Amino acid sequence: MDLGLKGKLAVVTGGSAGIGRAIAEGLAAEGADIVIAARDKTRAEDAALEIGKQFGVRTGGIAADVATAAGCDAVISAAADMGGTDILINNAGTGSNETIQEADDAKWQYYWDLHVMAAVRLARGLVPQMKQRGGGVVLHNASICAVQPLWYEPIYNTTKAALMMFSKTLANEVAGDSIRVNCVNPGLVQTGDWIKTAKQIAGEDGWEAHLQGVADEAGGLKRFASPEEMAHFFVFLCSNKASYSTGSTYFVDGGWLKTV
Ligand code: NDP
Repeated sequence: MDLGLKGKLAVVTGGSAGIGRAIAEGLAAEGADIVIAARDKTRAEDAALEIGKQFGVRTGGIAADVATAAGCDAVISAAADMGGTDILINNAGTGSNETIQEADDAKWQYYWDLHVMAAVRLARGLVPQMKQRGGGVVLHNASICAVQPLWYEPIYNTTKAALMMFSKTLANEVAGDSIRVNCVNPGLVQTGDWIKTAKQIAGEDGWEAHLQGVADEAGGLKRFASPEEMAHFFVFLCSNKASYSTGSTYFVDGGWLKTV
């Protein structure tokens, strides 16, 4: 099946690891050129080089903190230098851990900047590039927590819910420009962060059993997804096979969501 992605330029925030890396590889496997943005310069550059070599596409890896305006500007410039963006994957993000009683304003602000303002700023800068190229796709990686909160991360739950609404609102604004905008809400995806935390809690011998316990509690398929499983869904939504899809939020959570 030809997904129509050959020669498109995709910007993937947080594309140096985890789900973002798998999305970058999935798009590159379909012939898309890739810009990876992440804070760790070496990891971003190495990921870009490896993907370029493996799939024979043009790649760029840049050090940018998308929680800042300057970081977003750097991403927008890098994409312009490579000819302009067709696809934006707003993926960079991370969990939090607090109570509402204890978290200060600075913590709320940081996650607002990372999960919401990054998407706002990158839309302002990259949508004009998409318009010039005749259309495009924007995907937001939010979380099942946007609608089914975890008790220990109220800031994550709240900012991801805001990102989901931003996605819908942007979709309405750019529908007439042939730009499709959607949101994906993953459930449990086995990335480095989960493994690191599980090792801290349960040790080298116990981390896998700990993660299985988390999956059992979630129910449904009772397992974590691999980043690659999640990436397939994103790649499809980027493709012209998803041409009638915009303004939606898709749950890819192995049945964890408890509501319809
Ligand atoms: P990882 O921790 O595996 O990877 C995160 C990536 O984002 C890295 O490339 C990291 O690079 C980059 N990143 C983090 N902060 C910034 C920043 N401020 N600016 C630029 N890049 C940044 O995360 P996951 O793959 O697990 O998660 C990716 C997204 O998926 C997140 O938004 C997360 O909320 C969401 N998600 C994940 C789930 C899961 O179970 N894993 C479930 C639901 C949603 P660097 O550190 O160098 O900046």
